Amino acid sequence: MRKDIWIDKDLDNYFQCPHCGKGFLQLDDYKEIQTPQSKREDEEIRQDGMGAASNVQFYYFWAYLKCNKCNELVLCAGESSDSIYFEGNDEEPSKLQLLIPKLFIPALDIISIPSKTPQIIKEEIKKSFELFWINESSCANSIRKALEFLMDEQNIPRKGTDKNGKEYRLDLHKRLEQFKKLDSKLLIAVKYIGNEGTHNQTTTNYVLDAYELLEYSLELIYFDKHDKYLNTADKIIDELKNK
Ligand SMILES: [Zn+2]
Repeated sequence: MRKDIWIDKDLDNYFQCPHCGKGFLQLDDYKEIQTPQSKREDEEIRQDGMGAASNVQFYYFWAYLKCNKCNELVLCAGESSDSIYFEGNDEEPSKLQLLIPKLFIPALDIISIPSKTPQIIKEEIKKSFELFWINESSCANSIRKALEFLMDEQNIPRKGTDKNGKEYRLDLHKRLEQFKKLDSKLLIAVKYIGNEGTHNQTTTNYVLDAYELLEYSLELIYFDKHDKYLNTADKIIDELKNK
């Protein structure tokens, strides 16, 4: 994954198309409406004789992004602002527009998920892609949930038995420690970030770290390089054997 695309959470980026996975999204159509609060602020400034309007206006926007390869559309909605500021001794003011997306339909793929990943894990990770823009804590929680499903799919039990034969619940940390297919630290770190989500102290950087570690771990568990290279070999043989 490329963290630099996601860290600023703005629209000024080369997002990959979620339909074809090959093209990039370009702004195709844009509409905005000033928020009622921002309108009121402008009106108050006018009535007080302080000027024509505030130096910053806030808007709700919605936009269509179009893929440069498959031409499919993605809807984006969010909040934007226009600010006027003076730089140095400039007499002419400069304008700054900020677009902060809160929703993409369909969701953008922040990491790639190997095709052999079980559906329940895929769906939870896709849900986290939607939450990333609107609520990072819920997003981190959703990533944590995907880890529980991953442990289920890898047959790591949710319950243990004590020496008296009594069943007890195994928490996610204990389950991850039992998982021996890869260094358990990789996923335990993701779990810690998910916990931060629960405590509402998560940050974009941590969420992106969690995604990076999750992507790498899923690749180790579900991505079969042998299959990939066999497909490449089949394609070459098909193309070149009769030449
Ligand atoms: Zn596309």
